[in-house]
Amino acid sequence: MDSQIQTIHQQLVDKEITCTALVQSKLDALKQNTNNTVNALLGEKALELAAKVDAKIANGESIGLLEGIPFGIKDVYMVQGTITTASSNLLKNYKSAYTATAIQKLLDAGAIPLVKENCDSFGHGSSSENTIFGAVKNANNPDLVGGGSSGGSAVNVAKDYTVFSIGGDTGGSIRQPAGYNNVYGLKPTYGRISRYGLMAYASSTDCVGPIAKSLEDIRIVLNAMSGKDVKDQTTYASAEIDKDAISTSEDIKTIGYFKNFIESEAIDAEVKADFLATIEKIKAKGIEVKALDFFESNTLVSTYYTLAMAETASNLSRLDGTNYGSRIEAENLKETYSVTRSENFSEETKRRIVGGNQVLSQGFSDEIYLKSLGLRDQISENFEKDFNEVDIILSPVTPSTPPKIGDSLKDPLAMYLSDAYTVGFSLGQLPTLTVPQGTSTGLQITAAKNNDELVLKFANFLKDTI
Ligand code: GLN
Repeated sequence: MDSQIQTIHQQLVDKEITCTALVQSKLDALKQNTNNTVNALLGEKALELAAKVDAKIANGESIGLLEGIPFGIKDVYMVQGTITTASSNLLKNYKSAYTATAIQKLLDAGAIPLVKENCDSFGHGSSSENTIFGAVKNANNPDLVGGGSSGGSAVNVAKDYTVFSIGGDTGGSIRQPAGYNNVYGLKPTYGRISRYGLMAYASSTDCVGPIAKSLEDIRIVLNAMSGKDVKDQTTYASAEIDKDAISTSEDIKTIGYFKNFIESEAIDAEVKADFLATIEKIKAKGIEVKALDFFESNTLVSTYYTLAMAETASNLSRLDGTNYGSRIEAENLKETYSVTRSENFSEETKRRIVGGNQVLSQGFSDEIYLKSLGLRDQISENFEKDFNEVDIILSPVTPSTPPKIGDSLKDPLAMYLSDAYTVGFSLGQLPTLTVPQGTSTGLQITAAKNNDELVLKFANFLKDTI
């Protein structure tokens, strides 16, 4: 698909449409949608901004590429003046005091935020059912989950309710819902985009990224949000990715895939067959394909969940009803903390806080937490070795197709295992992109750290190859 941003930009400049009419039509669609993608509409402000864009065009002034383009924001980003709930009871009325850096950059470029989008509470989940706003329904089949945790964002893009949306990815939360709804979703290299103003889930893997219908729109939005930020010391300066630079893939000679991902018993037969057929098509184009060894899915999933739970237990400890969150008064302060947190956190979030505090506690931390940190180092070393041999690693996004609404809530362990193919790349802090091709839930393209450009290049090549 062509760039929607470019197309809309041209229509605005040529006065074929007005920004007000465009924004109004998207707001109407969002309001009427039955997929539960909306936590809050930002209608009034959006229409005000649209009127300004229209006035500029009417005055003959030029507008930037992102100016007037309507987009969605996962409800875990601070946007000053809006309520940021993280789809939780605890923050149901929490008003953001400031705006996240990534979102501010889009606002500065003139993009128009329409909606705070439904997601798993605090990013905890793989289905967008762990939310007080009702389960997000899949864009292709409303009986199936929208994927998670950025489910509302992926469904909004798939349904054209937003032109692009900003998700958050800690262990797969952009890539997996993008795959489940057949759109593009990028988790950039950790640190390429500032996390300032993104509610912290697991700080060492949290990433900001775009979801869109075209690769070109992913590129445009990535460029707009990237860059060093003094408010997030893990950020680094990066060069813009040029459109022409990703249009040729001549320098990609060798790719790899993980044997055990494909030979696993958990993989759906069709996903496997489709993936292997894709590999053949790539080989036919003269690219060498290597089958690589990697850690077992169980090791990846348990390492990720141990660390993610430890980090979220620590990050969420500030939500005690004093500075943040709806407070429930009890007999004394300790009881107040306890009741506030017990009543207002979801089952899934409490499971993670309890698990996280357990692995961090005296007597357990060496055995569990430190061991996981060691495994994470080994995983990163494995990636370093692989990227000496191959330019790109290709994998399915998920072992199977989206589950029915209700199933993941009954079996959290099965839900954790559905993240088998995404979490390893998060632990490695690598750039990785879901493309809506190859298998029914897409393909995941990964490159070495800071090589986001190569990921987009290979995606461009795949577009024409399969
Ligand atoms: N499904 C994974 C989890 O629940 C990833 C979530 C995310 O990336 N926010 O931790």
